Amino acid sequence: MKLLNFNSISFLKSFSYVKDIDINFGSEIALIGYSNTGKSTLINVLFNKKKISRVSKFPGSTQLINFFQINNSFRIIDLPGYGYSKFSKQFKLKWIKEIKKYLLYRKCLIGVIILVDINFFFKKIDLKMLHIIKKKKIKIIILLNKSDKINNFLKKEKYILAKKKILSLNIKADIQVFSSLKKIGISKLKNKINNLYINSL
Ligand code: GDP
Repeated sequence: MKLLNFNSISFLKSFSYVKDIDINFGSEIALIGYSNTGKSTLINVLFNKKKISRVSKFPGSTQLINFFQINNSFRIIDLPGYGYSKFSKQFKLKWIKEIKKYLLYRKCLIGVIILVDINFFFKKIDLKMLHIIKKKKIKIIILLNKSDKINNFLKKEKYILAKKKILSLNIKADIQVFSSLKKIGISKLKNKINNLYINSL
């Protein structure tokens, strides 16, 4: 069985618009989430690199579709965080449109990791994204991030709450209590990404 080497990640290319994406082979997993939920931190921790994805000075500062390559045929795509209020409405709408386009039409996409703050889920926009991904019938992994901020009892409560909400929406998703900071759930997540990769071969 071929395993992914998470340490071999490298930055490939960035795009401002989905229509400009000129990489159309192999498969990829996208990472999405509301701004400030910890996407950059997750990428750095997952791939064991200090600054492969810059942890933003202010939330949502990375506004590009960033392509990272793990090997020739497998990529991780970091989409801009949605919803941060500091940006103009027009700017936010542009990005929501691009993220939707990417999720709906990207043929290489085999899975989506959606990051939410365990204390503030689900935002309306998260649910909108989930409904779009649901239509594609691809793997959905929901990470309840920043779980280091709450005790074990609350972690369980939040997990059950998330599970119920997702079930009520008739969405099939894998839900995981997570913390990039304390590395809770990292190896589980790596196994899931690895399985997706193997199934895509
Ligand atoms: P992004 O905007 O989604 O890329 O979020 P960042 O990765 O820049 O993180 C936003 C803030 O949340 C930073 O101050 C991080 O240090 C913090 N953060 C990220 N992950 C965690 C986590 O698992 N636990 C805690 N407590 N803070 C985190």
